[in-house]
Amino acid sequence: MKVHEYQARQLLQAAGVPVPKFRVVSSASEARTAFAELNEPEVVVKAQVHAGGRGKAGYVVLCRDASDVERNAERMLREPMVSKQTGPSGVKVKKLLIAPAVQIAREFYIGMVIDRARRCPVMMVSREGGVEIEEVAAKNPSAIVKEWLDPHLGLLPFQVRRLVSALGLADAAAHAAGRTMTALAKIFVEKDCSLAEINPLVQTRSGEILAIDAKISFDDNALFRHPDVEAMFDPAEENPNELRAKAANLSYIALDGNIGCLVNGAGLAMSTMDIIKLHGGTPANFLDVGGSVTTAGAVEAFRIILSDGKVRGVLVNIFGGIAKCDVIAEALITAAREVGFKVPVVVRLEGTNVDKARQMLKDAAIPQLVAATDLTDAAKKVCAAV
Ligand code: GDP
Ligand code: MG
Repeated sequence: MKVHEYQARQLLQAAGVPVPKFRVVSSASEARTAFAELNEPEVVVKAQVHAGGRGKAGYVVLCRDASDVERNAERMLREPMVSKQTGPSGVKVKKLLIAPAVQIAREFYIGMVIDRARRCPVMMVSREGGVEIEEVAAKNPSAIVKEWLDPHLGLLPFQVRRLVSALGLADAAAHAAGRTMTALAKIFVEKDCSLAEINPLVQTRSGEILAIDAKISFDDNALFRHPDVEAMFDPAEENPNELRAKAANLSYIALDGNIGCLVNGAGLAMSTMDIIKLHGGTPANFLDVGGSVTTAGAVEAFRIILSDGKVRGVLVNIFGGIAKCDVIAEALITAAREVGFKVPVVVRLEGTNVDKARQMLKDAAIPQLVAATDLTDAAKKVCAAV
């Protein structure tokens, strides 16, 4: 689960990290009021969306007067933000953060993820922080310094010293940056984060250390331990079909292609996507209906897949183990009746109750249904159909 920058700032503040004061608004007139209340010579207006790359997209802007604040706020709330991380249609901005502008002397990166190869959290820091950090990671990885930590011990003092000296900091600034690193590591472990980063952590012209952007993501499987984090969930930032699927207990991830997939089992869903690609097609989604799928669940799955306007064909790939093929057949028949199939639906069924299922489908005589003998046959047929 992702949260907004302002929510990440709240978590950092609570952990003692120095963060400039800020306001969150959802209209241009509120932005104007916030500017007046902050009473600062210059503010930064920032779009609050789960995607990054806002600065380069023009959605982090410094403003010196109320009308400038209002104009930029109005634009950000009107025009969807398109950045490297959003895809071509961009994302709608619903909230803005307004904060006093900071006089920046240096920008650092500090971030944490899980290092899967080493099976532990890693803190990464760079003195080349800011909007180019992805470039730095790709072109000059030695500019990123890492410390791996034991989650039971947290970031140890010697590691903090190594990291702050890698940033070229000394004295009070080193202490302040070190405290921020320790706090970030504590948040990462205590809140079961999958990502926690401050980019940039800045040193101001007067020498102060401040976090002026933060991005934190949480491990969904651990959310039950953190009701405070769960309360930060913003459904407006989610794909509506993914929300619907979640409510129906389906694992669904929207993708860019035109072949809808309805599969049982995550592994089978992955190999279905692979085999579609192998035969020249592109999947429109990942969808695992799960082992104990019901007719109602499978019908909802069809509704979700078919509500995606990009879908030109569907591949149903079911291996009946715990799931029964006749349940899927019934769902297909119900969906054809209730939702209506406007695109070809290629069906490959194997396993428990397959003969019964095949007979049911034959009797139903749904014109758009295409029977497949095996997975390769199914992939070829759906790719040809789209
Ligand atoms: P991101 O592009 O989504 O990562 O958004 P950031 O909040 O990191 O802002 C992008 C860049 O805008 C930062 O790296 C800074 O260079 C600049 N920026 C953000 N806030 C301020 C500020 O208060 N003062 C100044 N001078 N620059 C800022
Ligand atoms: Mg940033």
